[in-house]
Amino acid sequence: MWIVPEATVARLITPEMAFEAVEATFAAMAREDAYNFPVIREAIGHADALYGFKSGFDRAGLHLGLKSGGYWPDNEQKGLTNHQSTVFLFDADTGQCKAAMGGNALTALRTAAASAVSIKHLARADARVLGIIGAGHQSAFQMRAAVQQRSFDKVVGWNLHPETLSRLADTAEELGLPFEAVSLDTLGQEADVIISITSSFAPILNADQVRPGTHLACMGTDTRGKQEVDPALLVRATVFTDEIAQSTSIGEAQHAVAEGILTKDAITEIGAVINGAHPGRRSDDEITLFDGTGVALQDLSAAASVLDLAIAEGVATEAAL
Ligand code: NAD
Repeated sequence: MWIVPEATVARLITPEMAFEAVEATFAAMAREDAYNFPVIREAIGHADALYGFKSGFDRAGLHLGLKSGGYWPDNEQKGLTNHQSTVFLFDADTGQCKAAMGGNALTALRTAAASAVSIKHLARADARVLGIIGAGHQSAFQMRAAVQQRSFDKVVGWNLHPETLSRLADTAEELGLPFEAVSLDTLGQEADVIISITSSFAPILNADQVRPGTHLACMGTDTRGKQEVDPALLVRATVFTDEIAQSTSIGEAQHAVAEGILTKDAITEIGAVINGAHPGRRSDDEITLFDGTGVALQDLSAAASVLDLAIAEGVATEAAL
């Protein structure tokens, strides 16, 4: 088997590789060439951590494997990122373990790629202001990926903990864009595209704070109980997701579905838009909302691209199991 350490993955993976892998994966899922197995994600009752497994199989790309890891909220104080994960790839013909790879940079780039794919396919073409709710580790990756998709001329941001907003200001500066820290009301009034990427367990953004024509990528909710927006917003919006089963169980849609105000049938997998089976946004006044829950196949396809590159560059280590 091959071993590709975290630092090597982080050096090799590019936002473009992640975008290409994720867009192709969503398309394969909608064609039913690829599917994710049920997610296991548990609060382990230690270190306040959430730990789990995400796994799946892409029959077309022959990506088989899992990502294991989770979220340790106190890691930052130890100089580590709160998200920790490792990807294992298996040979689809033999079941042998093919690779163990660091999954942290991979998670950040594949998550940012998912919201960027949603912006590409669902945001208004004339979107100019990008709003970001959340200023944690993922937020900078989200901003960098989003600005590749539209000609944004400004970024506005809000975070529960204002002391970390400097991450958004610094990233916007790096991208040559003006940044303003604003209230949620102002963010909703100004932003054409809103990305939420927080660890919230209660709604942050109300339905009436969002303008017609906005595209939202709700990326933080990936566990039962987490929540970033008012369930009424999912009724006002046309809802898209990476995978319906995850959206209704661990994604943002879990709350609206549990309240009985949204049905599974009203949610569309974004792969259908990529494949041309669904038109996506139908008017400039429509609110579109992408419920990005994070599927295993995103990790596996991005990891497979990195593994190929690592082997080609001679930086993957071969080890006997
Ligand atoms: P982080 O710990 O670095 O940052 C957390 C962010 O959430 C910060 O902005 C913090 O201020 C904010 N926050 C914390 N508690 C909050 C609360 N109660 N209400 C509102 N905001 C709160 O985390 P990160 O690595 O940036 O990840 C952010 C979220 O994205 C996490 O919930 C993580 O599980 C999720 N995530 C989702 C995917 C996916 O594919 N959908 C992938 C990776 C991460």
